[in-house]
Formats: sequence, C-alpha cells, structure tokens
Amino acid sequence: MDYLPIFLDIRGQPCLVVGGGEVAARKAALLLRAGARLAIRAPSLCADLEEDLAAGRIAHHAGIFQEGDLVGISLVIAATDDEEVNRSVAAAARSRRIPVNVVDVPALCSFIMPSIVERGPVIVAVSSGGNSPVLARLLRARLETLIPSSYGRLAALAGVFRERVKARFAPAERRRFWERTLQGPIAELVFSGREEAARNAMQAALDDNRLAFTGGEVALIGAGPGDPDLLTFRALRLMQQADVVVYDRLVSKPVLELVRRDAQFIYAGKERAKHALPQEDINHLLVRLAKEGKRVVRLKGGDPFIFGRGGEEIDTLAAEGIPFQVVPGITAASGCAVYAGIPLTHRDYSQSVVFVTGHLKDGSMDLNWPALAQSRQTLVFYMGLLGVEILCRELIANGLPAETPAALIQQGTMPEQRVLVGTLETLPGILRTGNVKAPTLIIVGEVVRLRERLKWFETAA
Ligand code: SAH
Repeated sequence: MDYLPIFLDIRGQPCLVVGGGEVAARKAALLLRAGARLAIRAPSLCADLEEDLAAGRIAHHAGIFQEGDLVGISLVIAATDDEEVNRSVAAAARSRRIPVNVVDVPALCSFIMPSIVERGPVIVAVSSGGNSPVLARLLRARLETLIPSSYGRLAALAGVFRERVKARFAPAERRRFWERTLQGPIAELVFSGREEAARNAMQAALDDNRLAFTGGEVALIGAGPGDPDLLTFRALRLMQQADVVVYDRLVSKPVLELVRRDAQFIYAGKERAKHALPQEDINHLLVRLAKEGKRVVRLKGGDPFIFGRGGEEIDTLAAEGIPFQVVPGITAASGCAVYAGIPLTHRDYSQSVVFVTGHLKDGSMDLNWPALAQSRQTLVFYMGLLGVEILCRELIANGLPAETPAALIQQGTMPEQRVLVGTLETLPGILRTGNVKAPTLIIVGEVVRLRERLKWFETAA
C-alpha cells in the first residue's frame, strides 16, 4: 500500500487553498462540504470563488503565497498553474508537517485525494495511488451504477436505530440483524421510497423478538426488450438477490444470465395459444413462493404494465398480503424504435403515438379503427404478426393512405434484429416472403421514413 486511506475530520478547522482558478474552486467546494473554515490565497478569484466570498463562505488573502500563510493551518491544497508557487507551498507545508496536496502532482503531495461516490453519510473513495486518476474515475462511475442512489437514506435509517438495536441484541445477533435488514425487504422499502414503511418494519422486527423480517416478497420486473444493457439498475440489483426467478419466453438469454446463479429458474412460458402455465397458475405460484419466504423475481419482457398482465399478477399478490414492488422496464416500442432508427414522435410528422395490441381473438381484431387511422400519429402494434393483413387493410379502409410507411422489427435490440420496411399496401407481401420470426413489432406512420436519414442503422433486409 503506497498510501494510508483515511477520512479526515476537518469540520471547523482552518484550511487553505492556494490559487483562485476553477481547479481551486472545485477543491474549495469539497473542503467547504466537509465543513472546513476556508481561506483562499490568490491574486484574484474566479467567478465561483467570488460568489463564495460574497456569501461569506470563504476568506480571501489577495496576493501571492507566503510561508506565513501556513501559520495555524490544518491542511493546505495548492491549485495554481505556477509550478514554482506549487513547489514552495509543498516545501513550506512539509517542513511544518501540515498535510499538503498539490493538484495533479503526486510527487509533491503528502496526501492525495480520491475519486468519491457519495450517498449521504456513506462515502466510497477510490484511488489509483496517483498512477491514473482517470482509471479511478472510471471505476468510480461503475460504483455509481452499483450503489443505489438512496443508500444514504438507508444509512440514515440504520443510524436512527443503531442504539436501539445495540441495546436489544448481543454482538453476534446484532450483526446478523443488520445483515438481514440492510439487504432485505426493509432495504428495498427504502430504495423504492417507502421510508415510513421501512421504519415501521424495522421497529416491528425489533419488537417482534425476531432477528428481522424474514417473509418473502415479489419483485415484478420489466426486463426490457432483449439487450441486457437496457435493464435498470434496480432490476439488476434485485435479480442478483433473487432466490427464485419466474420468467417469460420474451426474456432474453443474456438477461437471464444476469440473475444470481444459485437462484431457481422457473419458466412460465406463454407462447401464442399454447401457454406453458395459465395466468391463474402463475399468479398463485408467485404467492406460494413468497409464502415460503423466498425472494421472488418475476421477470417479464419489456415493461410489466404494458401488455404484460402485470396488473393481474399484483392483484393476486395484494389480495394475499404479499409485499411486492414493480420495476418499470423499457417497453418494446421504445427499444425497437430506437434500435431501428425510427423516432416515435416528430415535431413535423407525428404528434402522438398509440400502443396497440394486435392480438387476434377468434381470427379478428376488435379495435377502434377510425381513431387509429389518423394522420400525424404513430401506431405501434404489439403481438400483431398474425394480424398484419387485417390491420393494414383496416387502416387503409378507414382512411390512411395506402402508401403510409410501415416497418416490422423482428427481435428488436438483439444482435439478430431485422427491420423490414414497406407501406400499408406492401408490408403483408413483404412478410409472406420474409421468413419472419417472433417477437415482432409493427410501427406505422410517416416517422418510419425518417429511418432513411439515420443511415448509421442497419439497412432493411
Ligand atoms: N410487456 C412487453 C410486451 C408484451 S406483449 C413490453 O412492454 O414490451 C409481447 C409483444 O411485445 C410481442 O408480441 C412483440 O410484439 C413485442 N415485443 C417484445 N419484445 C420484442 C422485441 N425484442 N422485438 C420485437 N417485438 C417485441
């Protein structure tokens, strides 16, 4: 280890920044956040520092650095673009044993500053030991995505209960209590913004003479259209904590690979006409698994509330009193449109977009055709492959021009994605010869034309 990582308490301590530019301003801001009593030594100040000065947050010693500036100082940062000045600050500070940092010159530093991820009182500091600040920043960015933004609130909640838990449990039990509450359902309540419920659950866990809330729960998660990069952070986190995952046919393999490996995988299927599990059974399966105390992840393609029967599944959960949460996902319309280079709305061509189910019931589609066949509107048909001929015919019959552009996107956002483009008149014929595989999405409207302008996307097959 080249450096000792420590967190320094500088609240109310006199600190000095030498330099009045933007870099100095950034360092000053950090010191102020940590509560320092801050003075700036510099001939002049940049706008941000002037503002701090006007607001009384800092003191300003105009002019250039002198050794006497360090009298009584607890910590100093040199942030000037004058090497000579930086060097003399470093030398003076070292001879007085005052911790000193010279920005971007590790050789002159007695301490270096890490990249930080901040979540309220929780701070993660990353350092490359001065070898590569950029690398540390990249790592920091990865941590940012891993740590829920409300981690600070979780820490604050733990802080509130700390003494009570201490009084209640012996050390080993206490540790287990915290391990369970800080990564179990109580934590999830905090992450999904239900802090009061989290506080109550915490208190109940204490009162209950139990180690912690141990019941199961269900997360109904939108897995997006296929590309695993389109998952949300919350989805990924819950998938990695799952005991059991119940998934649909539409959930792609690369997404499934991100679920915790030790989890139990249950296929709930749903292919047109032949359902692997009837919806009723899925609803009750989720309830049963949760009642066994499991952390159940119900993974659905796209967004659970868009043609996903998510509403029915949570109905049953709610009726049975099972705690659940719903995690939105990128719906096929958004994912496929972007990956195919078709903006769903456009100031000049389309002012509204309608998501429609093209599912056939007894060989027909019961839709409000006159409302759909409107100009300046984009239509997105889900589950429409079998009904393509009907929907094209009906839209024309109800007033849309036969040459209205239409695109079919197959396996959107996945490496196998294909886009077939035609018009309301030609699309059915194109599909007959196209060897099309599910899942497919159909987009109808002038916006489809814009695709030709966005040439960097793959061309139609
Ligand atoms: N809840 C899902 C939709 C479920 S309905 C969502 O929000 O996306 C199933 C239909 O979604 C499929 O028949 C198909 O029309 C569409 N779909 C889902 N994923 C798709 C993909 N990767 N490419 C094309 N269409 C897709």
